[in-house]
Amino acid sequence: MRQRDSGVGAGEARITGNIDGAGLQIVVDPDKGRCVVSTSEFAIGQTVVVGDVERIVPTRTTHSFQVGWDSHVDLTTPARDINHSCDPNTGIRDNDRGGFDFIALREIGPDEEITWDYETSEYVSIAVSRCLCGATGCRSVIRGYRYRSADPSWQPSHLAGYLSEPAPESSDSVLAALQPVEAGAQAPRQGR
Ligand SMILES: [Zn+2]
Repeated sequence: MRQRDSGVGAGEARITGNIDGAGLQIVVDPDKGRCVVSTSEFAIGQTVVVGDVERIVPTRTTHSFQVGWDSHVDLTTPARDINHSCDPNTGIRDNDRGGFDFIALREIGPDEEITWDYETSEYVSIAVSRCLCGATGCRSVIRGYRYRSADPSWQPSHLAGYLSEPAPESSDSVLAALQPVEAGAQAPRQGR
């Protein structure tokens, strides 16, 4: 049986409050840090979270979202608190606010953690050096679209729009991909 993206672990998690009208709450999990957890149900295709741009950042961070070949932004809460999963229950779609909407990929019930796949937006990801998602088939190290897309069996239904555009040779993202990856060099995004 496929392991679901569960909500948060038993017992120790701390709820910081419901997000008014959104059917979501932020939960602080002792292992994973801040998580976005549903308090209601979402149907397949429903927008679960709208991510507005809070600020443009000059370079990627472990919290930023890549919205263009050389464009990285911080999104508003709760979008910024959505954790990665290798078997996510939402996918991203560019929105007219310059950020991403998070769309339900399957039916989501109460107490499920909302997740997405960083490799559908980050060309070279520095956010997850050790994945804690717990999914069957967890990829353990999340390196980014550039590497993931080398697998022809990977056919994501949702991707950041810029990834369908040709990469500029001078792109910082492309240059970053030429740098050797230092395992463990970056703090994991999960567990913050
Ligand atoms: Zn994983």
